[in-house]
Amino acid sequence: MTARIVVLSAPSGGGKTTIAKAVRERYPEKFGFSVSVTTRKPRPGEREGVDYFFQTRAQFLEGVAAGRFLEHAEYGRELYGTLKSEIEKVLKSGKHVLLDIEVEGARQVREQYPAPRSVLIFILPSDPRVLLERLHSRKSESPEQIRWRLDRAEYELNQATRFERWVHNDDLETAIEEVSAIADDPQVGQTREQQDFEWITNYGRGLMEAAQRLYDEQHQQKG
Ligand code: ADP
Ligand code: 5GP
Repeated sequence: MTARIVVLSAPSGGGKTTIAKAVRERYPEKFGFSVSVTTRKPRPGEREGVDYFFQTRAQFLEGVAAGRFLEHAEYGRELYGTLKSEIEKVLKSGKHVLLDIEVEGARQVREQYPAPRSVLIFILPSDPRVLLERLHSRKSESPEQIRWRLDRAEYELNQATRFERWVHNDDLETAIEEVSAIADDPQVGQTREQQDFEWITNYGRGLMEAAQRLYDEQHQQKG
């Protein structure tokens, strides 16, 4: 199979970072990773050049003007982008390149790397309450940031229909193997899987209801 771009997107808490890391660690000869640039501050334990290249907004915008990005987008008031140099480095080595990016970036990648040169995978646990739980238990965002990310999830779920495959991240092991198999499947991108629109619509509704219950509880505790 020719090396291609494998895009993983998910609402926040869906598991794309965990899966991208696990797939790369398990199959280092088959997958490389593109380190993104961001203007957000590093979280505890995050390392420059490993998790992200951390830049100021001015540096980032200079990179945009110089045409260094394959795609870039704003998310939660911060800028994120994929460097063309990162992609080229991995593809030249003959490996698939894994991108853990949000949906707007996925759309831009698809424009420049039409199927089957790219494959778009949308990741989310089957139960929206699990998504909410995982987002909270990660403890890396403030309540305001979580709220913003949940609002954003509604838009992201609407974009899921652009993606060729939906991987249910319930059992991590199964999800890792599914992503790896999809990357190697030459049919993916040529044919579109039958998508369950009703399921994704209900999912969005379930997520919003679960989030609302949580806000109400938090409000009651405060008051
Ligand atoms: P994303 O990058 O999509 O925002 P993460 O990869 O950070 O999501 O996952 C959100 C949280 O859920 C993390 O704490 C992660 O350890 C946990 N998680 C991810 N996948 C699973 C899984 N299959 N089972 C249990 N916990 C998971
Ligand atoms: P976080 O701040 O949690 O690391 O990432 C926030 C969001 O930005 C996630 O949805 C993540 O996938 C996305 N993201 C990370 N890197 C990139 C990138 O290079 N481009 C785009 N478009 N989104 C990115």
